Amino acid sequence: MLIILSLPGLFRPRKIQQGWPGWRMLIRDISLSAVALEVGSLLSALLAAYLFQRQWLRADLAKPSAASLLIQASGTITLYDLYLFGVHRLLHLGPLFTYLHSVHHRSTAPTPVTAFAIHPIEAVINFVFLPAFMVLTPVNFYAVMAAGLYFQVAAIVLHSGHEVFPRWWRRSALGYLFPTVRFHDFHHSQGAGNYGIITTIWDRLFGTTVPIAWR
Ligand SMILES: [Zn+2]
Ligand SMILES: [Zn+2]
Repeated sequence: MLIILSLPGLFRPRKIQQGWPGWRMLIRDISLSAVALEVGSLLSALLAAYLFQRQWLRADLAKPSAASLLIQASGTITLYDLYLFGVHRLLHLGPLFTYLHSVHHRSTAPTPVTAFAIHPIEAVINFVFLPAFMVLTPVNFYAVMAAGLYFQVAAIVLHSGHEVFPRWWRRSALGYLFPTVRFHDFHHSQGAGNYGIITTIWDRLFGTTVPIAWR
């Protein structure tokens, strides 16, 4: 956010929606993010500690080879993406949207600080996947950390409000499989469709894409 504010000339040509959300909206999103990240990470860490203590979670802390890390992290990211897509799709239904997810959609023109401006319950639902995944599979701890980091970086980039991906990327297979910033920005401006954060695979499979988003 600070980079965008300090270099307006560099970022203005890439801005997706014109206008300025206002300091009030920014402060609101920063406050919501602080609460959601605090509650979400604290409760998921407590859950992980409890599961570890009960010996249900046996974290594989061995240093993996680069190839093993890549394969395990890719698998974890793909399944995490499916989980997040399913959760996000459900959060757009009836009371779940009204009482939980509408908090995130107050920003119709997202900024980087909108990424985690979500209801604390939504944060917990998003974060508990990773400790639960370590209970259900013998996945390596570092692969899980890589998947968590990837999700957080992707969420911030997709809420930047600026199309950071070059035209060649958007027109390539990469732009077809991975969401551009415009892809998620449309989710906020339209209020529905384009639910994926890590890939567009599940949106394409379930027919929930907004076609204008990637060209
Ligand atoms: Zn949404
Ligand atoms: Zn969003």
